[in-house]
Amino acid sequence: MAQYKCFSCGKVITNKILEKRFVCPHCNSKIFYKPRKHIAKVKAI
Ligand SMILES: [Zn+2]
Repeated sequence: MAQYKCFSCGKVITNKILEKRFVCPHCNSKIFYKPRKHIAKVKAI
């Protein structure tokens, strides 16, 4: 399941919620971004 984050309030919203209405249920924002699941940490040597 895809997860998005509201750009405005930062809450996680699943695509199931966005299927019904493409707005944030918390703040009615329409801007979302996809948070990365794996944050690659690069060690500088
Ligand atoms: Zn929001």
